Amino acid sequence: MPQDSLFVSRTVPVLVPTPSERPYTYAVPEGMEVEPGAIVAVPLGPRTVAGVVWDDDRKDEVDPKKLRAIERVFDCPPLSADMRRFVDWVARYTLSAPGMVARMVLRVPAAFDPEPAVPGLRRTEVLPERMTPARARVLELATGCLGWTRSGLAHAAGVSLSVVDGLTKAGVFEEIELPPMPVVAAPDPDYAGARLSEDQRAAADSLRVPVEEGGFSATLLEGVTGSGKTEVYFEAIAAALEAGKQVLVLLPEIALTHSFLERFHDRFGAPPAEWHSEIAPKARERVWRQVADGRVRVVAGARSALFLPFSELGLIVVDEEHDPAYKQEDRVFYHARDMAVVRAHIGGFPMILSSATPSVETRYNAENGRYRHVRLSRRFAEAAMPEIAAIDMRRTPPARGRFLAPPLLKAIGETLERGEQSLLFLNRRGYAPLTLCRVCGHRFQCSDCSSWLVEHRFRGVLMCHHCGHHEPVPEACPECGTLDHLVACGPGIERIAEEVVQAFPDARTIVLSSDMLGGVKRLRLELEAIEKGDVDIVIGTQLVAKGHNFPNMTLVGVVDADLGLANGDPRAAERTFQLLSQVTGRAGRTGKKSLGLIQTFQPEHPAMRAIVSGDGEAFYGNQIAERERGHLPPFGRLASIIVSANSRAEAETHGRALRAAAPVGEIMVLGPAEAPLALIRGRHRFRLLVHGPERANIQAFLRAMIGNAPRPRGSVRVSVDVDPQSF
Ligand code: ADP
Ligand code: ZN
Repeated sequence: MPQDSLFVSRTVPVLVPTPSERPYTYAVPEGMEVEPGAIVAVPLGPRTVAGVVWDDDRKDEVDPKKLRAIERVFDCPPLSADMRRFVDWVARYTLSAPGMVARMVLRVPAAFDPEPAVPGLRRTEVLPERMTPARARVLELATGCLGWTRSGLAHAAGVSLSVVDGLTKAGVFEEIELPPMPVVAAPDPDYAGARLSEDQRAAADSLRVPVEEGGFSATLLEGVTGSGKTEVYFEAIAAALEAGKQVLVLLPEIALTHSFLERFHDRFGAPPAEWHSEIAPKARERVWRQVADGRVRVVAGARSALFLPFSELGLIVVDEEHDPAYKQEDRVFYHARDMAVVRAHIGGFPMILSSATPSVETRYNAENGRYRHVRLSRRFAEAAMPEIAAIDMRRTPPARGRFLAPPLLKAIGETLERGEQSLLFLNRRGYAPLTLCRVCGHRFQCSDCSSWLVEHRFRGVLMCHHCGHHEPVPEACPECGTLDHLVACGPGIERIAEEVVQAFPDARTIVLSSDMLGGVKRLRLELEAIEKGDVDIVIGTQLVAKGHNFPNMTLVGVVDADLGLANGDPRAAERTFQLLSQVTGRAGRTGKKSLGLIQTFQPEHPAMRAIVSGDGEAFYGNQIAERERGHLPPFGRLASIIVSANSRAEAETHGRALRAAAPVGEIMVLGPAEAPLALIRGRHRFRLLVHGPERANIQAFLRAMIGNAPRPRGSVRVSVDVDPQSF
C-alpha cells in the first residue's frame, strides 16, 4: 500500500525485536482492530518483523510521510498486560533494550497464527461391497471415531493410497477437518492423589495456603536431598490447577527434565509441556501457541520458559533455586530465579523456591521474613543421609602420578564387593587440563582465548573449552620439535576413568559428561542403565551431580573438592558447599548405609567442615556475616561491566573512559582490570566492578555512567551484568 494514500485512523507504539530503547510508532490502517499486546507484522527497514503493540502513551512526533503501517494482526491471543509489564521491568533492571527482552518472547514466529486444519478421513457406517485383503487391513485399523490423514492411514495399513481412495469413493470414509495440533491432555490434580509422609503433608499444606489465598508471596522450600521436595510442591501445583491457573516449573538442567516428566505424569496423569533448547521446532511452536491460548496448563522448562506468553499463570516453582544455570550471561543478562520472583510479584501470585542448599540471598530473605520458610528435615522413608568424611590429601596422598587416594580406592573396592554402585565426581571434562612439553616447557594454549587446551584422549584432540577450537594431539612439540615428550598435567574425568579401569579391571565403568557423543538421548539411556544397576562405577562431571535417583549408589567420591575454591570469588565457598552437598546427596537414596568421601587439601575450610558435619546452619550464618562485613549482596549492590574489543588497547581505553564518566557519590567503581578470562574468541576483555550500598540505585548510576561516556566505537562492545554471579 503506498504510504501517502493510506488513511490513518490512529497510531500505536509497537515494540519490535531490536536494540532500540523505545517502541516505534506505526499507523493503524482503517478498519484494522488492534489492542495493546496484539502481535502484529510491521515493516522495519527492508524487512517485515513481528512486534507487540505496546502501552506507551508518550506521543512521538513522527513525520506523517515517514509513518509506516501495521501490515496485519496475527490470529493469536494478545500478550497479557502482566507480561508487558514484566518485559519492561526486566529491561529496566538489566539495562537492556525492551525490544531485546521482547525478542525473547517473540522467538517462535510460526506460532503466531493457528495452524490450518488438516484434511482427514473418518469412518462412516457404510461397508464396502467388495472386500480385498488390503481393504480389510485398512478397515481393521480405521475403527472408532478418530480421524486419520489419508497418507497416515495408507502407511499404517501398509497399502497404497489408491486402496484408501477407493474406500472413500465407496462411502466408507467421509472427509473431515482434523484439528491441526494434538491437544495435550490436561494434568489432573486428582489423578493419583498425594502420597505423603506426615512431615511432607504438613509442608504441602503450608505450600497450598498461599496458592488458595492468591496474592504474591515467595516461599523457600528447604529440605535435604531425598526429603521429597518435589512430591511436596506437586501439591501446590495441584492447588493451582484446581484454581484454574497455569503453572510454570523451572528446572536448571535439561538432563533432569526426563525423570521430572515421568514423576509428574505419575502424579497428574499427563506430562507437562517441555520447554528448553533441545525441543524440536514443531513442538516449540505448539507449546508457545498452547501456552498463549491456555491449552497448556503446566510447563516444565529452562530459564527461557519465563518468557512464554502465559495468560493465566498462577504459580511458579523454581527447582534447585541456587543453581548457577539460572543465570543467563548473553545479550540480556538476567537471573531466572530473581526474575521469577518479579514475575510472580507483577502477576500477584505465589512462587516457590526449592533447594537443599539455598543461595545465601534466598536463605537470608527467608530468615528475615521476606520469604516464607517451609522445611523438610528428614529424608523420605528409612533413607539416612550418607556419612561424610574428608580425605586429607596431604596425609594420605595418592600414588605417584595417580589421583585417587588409598582410602577412596579401598571404599570403591568394598562397594564393588557388596554389589553396590560408586560415583566419582570431578568437574573437569577431558583427560588433562594442561599439556606441556617435558623438554622445553611449552604449554598448549588456545590462540583465541586465554586458556589452556584440554586434552580429550578418547577423541584424540586438544580442545579449548571456551571457543570449542580443537586440534589433533601432535606427536612432536611444536616449539622444540622433540618427539613423544608431551606430558599431561592434572586430571580430567577421562584420566580418572583410566585409573579406575586399571585398579578395578572387572568393574563395569562408565564416563558421563556433557561432551559425550550422542547428546541428551544417549545420556538418558546411560542414566537408565545406572538406575537399573547395569553399571558399577560412574565417573562424571556435574551432569550426574544433580537430581538423579540412583537406588543402588552407596559411595560418592569427590576427586578434587578444592577445584572451585581456587579463583578467590566470594561466592566460592557457597558454591562448593552447594555442589558437594548435591553430589554426596546422590548416595544412599533407598535406605542402604552410604558414604561420601571428599578428597581435599584444605579439610579445615568452612565449606568442607560444613559438608562433613552436615551443619548447614552454622555455614549459612558465617556466609551471611561475611557478606555483611564486605557489604556484598544482599547487603550491597554489585554490577560488572565487561568491555571487549579486538585489540587490548581499545578495550582498556574504553574501560577507562567509562570509569571517568562515573558520577561521584557513594557508589564505587573498581577497574578497568583484565577480566578473569582476558581473551575469549579473539576478543580482549576488561572488567569494571561497580559496588554500592544496598539502598543505591545502581541502574541509575550505570545509565548515567554509560550515557556520559563516549559511545563505543569500532569493535568495542560493552555489556552490563547487574547482580553478577562471580565477582
Ligand atoms: P528431593 O527433591 O527433596 O531430593 P524427591 O522429591 O526427589 O526429593 O524425593 C526423593 C525420592 O523419594 C524420590 O524417588 C521420590 O519418588 C521418593 N519419595 C519422596 N516422598 C515420597 C512419598 N511420600 N512416597 C513415595 N515416595 C516418595
Ligand atoms: Zn579458545
